[in-house]
This record gives sequence, C-alpha cells and structure tokens, in this order.
Amino acid sequence: MKWAFVGASTIAAQFMIRAVRAQAGNDVTWLVSGNADHAATYAAEHGIARATTDLAEALADPDVAAAYISSTNEKHFDQAMAAIAAGKHVLCEKPLAMTIEQATSMVRAAETAGVTFATNHHLRCSGSHRAIKGLIDAGRIGRVLSLRIHHAVHLPANLQGWRITSAKAGGGVIPDITVHDADVARFLLGEDPQTVVAQMTSSGMGQGVEDSAMSVWTMPSGAMVMSHESFTHPFAGSGLEVHGTEGSIFARGVMTQNPVGKITLVTAAGTEAVSYPAHDLYQQGVAEFLAATRGDGRPAATGWDGVKSLTVALAVREAATTGARIDVNYGENK
Ligand code: NDP
Repeated sequence: MKWAFVGASTIAAQFMIRAVRAQAGNDVTWLVSGNADHAATYAAEHGIARATTDLAEALADPDVAAAYISSTNEKHFDQAMAAIAAGKHVLCEKPLAMTIEQATSMVRAAETAGVTFATNHHLRCSGSHRAIKGLIDAGRIGRVLSLRIHHAVHLPANLQGWRITSAKAGGGVIPDITVHDADVARFLLGEDPQTVVAQMTSSGMGQGVEDSAMSVWTMPSGAMVMSHESFTHPFAGSGLEVHGTEGSIFARGVMTQNPVGKITLVTAAGTEAVSYPAHDLYQQGVAEFLAATRGDGRPAATGWDGVKSLTVALAVREAATTGARIDVNYGENK
C-alpha cells in the first residue's frame, strides 16, 4: 500500500515512516506540508519521492491508498475529511480533532465511504499494556478497584512549540497526553469513564495553555481512576498501577513510545515479574490498521476509540475550568 503522509512532523520522522516501511509492500510516497521548503527538505531527508503543499494533489494519486495525518491538531479534521472523500483509508493522530462534533463527523464519513479509519493511540499496541490487560482479564487481581496513571513527563526541547503556546493549534497537556491516558483506561478496564473531577495548571512551560493536569474519574463498574499528566517533570518517571481485590499490578516506565518498562504482579502468593513481547508499538499499530483494511479484524484503536478519548479529555478540561464534577457525555457515540 502506498501512503501519503500529511504533516511533516516529528512523530512521523521518529516513528511512523519506519513503521509503514516495516510492513511488506508498503511505502510513503507523498509528503504534504503547509511549508514548501520544509516539505522539500523533509521529503529528501526521509527518501519520500514526492512533496507538495497541495493535499488534493497527493490525494489525486490513484496509487495512494492510505493517508496518515500528523499535522497540528486543528488541521486534522479538514485533512481527514478530504482524504476520506478521496476514498483513502485514514490513520489519524490523536486528538482526532478540536471538538467531539468534528471527530464524530470524521468517523461517520469514513463509515459512509467504506474506508478504514483509525486513531494512533500507540500505548494499547504495546506488549506491556497488553500483558497488563491479560492479567486483569484473567482475574489475576480479582475485581478492579482502582487505576493510577502516572504520565507526568518532560517535554523535549524540540517539541516545546505549539503544544505549550497555542490553544488554537490544539496545544495543552490535556489534548496531548490526557487523551492517551483516557484510551489506556478504556483499553485496560474495558469500560468508559463516567464522571470526572480535575484541576490543571501552568507550572513553567504552558503559555496560555495548561502544562499539567490531575484528574479523578469514576467508571461504571465502580472502579476509580487517578490520572496525572504534565510536560514539566524531568525526573518523575512514568507508570501505572492497577489495584484489585486479589492483587496489584505495578508497571514502571510503560507510558512511553518504546517497548520498555517493568511489570510486577503482587498477590497473596507473592511477587512475580511479568514478561511481555517487546515489539515496536507503532509497527504493531500500522500492522493492525493494514489488516483491518483487508477486512481482517479492527484497528488497534478505532475512530470511535479516538472520539471517546477526546470526549474524556475535553470533560477533564471542562472539569478543571469550572471546578465542577462533569458527566462524560458520549452522546450517541456509545
Ligand atoms: P511537530 O511539532 O513535530 O509537527 C507538527 C507540524 O508542525 C508539522 O506537521 C509541520 O506542519 C509543522 N512543522 C514542524 N517542524 C517544522 C519546521 N521545521 N518548519 C515548518 N513547519 C514545521 O508535531 P508532533 O510530531 O509532535 O505532533 C504531530 C501530531 O502527532 C499531533 O497531532 C500530536 O498530537 C500527534 N502525536 C502523536 C503521538 C503518538 O504517539 N501517537 C506522539 C507525538 C505526537 P505541516 O503540517 O504544515 O507540515
């Protein structure tokens, strides 16, 4: 399958071009960017045959079957809708869009067009998160009581741009990292957050957008989720803990783009190290996306998963803004 990459981004350069090229018969043949010079330099650097500032030109190429969208967040909607209208399968970065209405329209348009649409939530593609889900589903920790997500990191200098300065481009730690954590909670617990309370702040990086957030969510089962995201924590490490009536899972260093981290299961029987496959998270996501385009299974994270993670993130921001407990309203997107 030939791909058009829309957005000459860091994530594409660091992970996604390689993830596509790792799949047999797949290549990135177009690069679309808003800046002609940047597009040309980027395409040359990554061996992408054609570069353009005109999305329609790339989408008009009948050899292109899929678009991967990793522009800044406010551009995802128009670009995804154009790709869907051109009959391309779409793998879109999170957050899918700026509003739930936009994200919902994208997913519905893809359904109507009969193309595959997926959200690039990489964490649920990792061997570590899948191993944790396996332990929960196998009943190893009994009834789940709570999930604590530690995702306060230090935003690297090369990414300290629109994310910390531009609300218009979709900046802020909530659309950036809370969306991922919402997806993790939904993936691990198999249910959708119901209500949220939250606080957010700017602790040194955010200029007009939040760079840190803490929130507490309730789940329909009665389980509670505590979620912490930040751009300003150089030494906090990352991780998650799932606590149940029969055991606890401690996963250190697993809220990351790489197949790393350590998982420990603690039960009445003692402490056990949990192993997991160390495959590339993004290659796994692309492989499952491609299988879905062939009618084999579903993408790791579907469009609806992206709509729901955005819905939770926006509820967290609303809760932090208003100080009220917010019911997460999925509308008809159940
Ligand atoms: P970047 O800041 O690296 O790139 C975003 C856009 O900025 C590019 O698409 C490009 O615009 C423009 N840009 C970047 N560098 C230059 C330059 N030197 N000159 C001119 N323009 C430039 O963004 P990220 O890669 O960090 O994020 C992109 C998207 O991917 C976001 O939606 C983000 O949320 C998501 N993301 C997802 C991750 C995941 O693990 N799933 C991880 C990281 C990001 P243009 O579109 O015009 O080319």
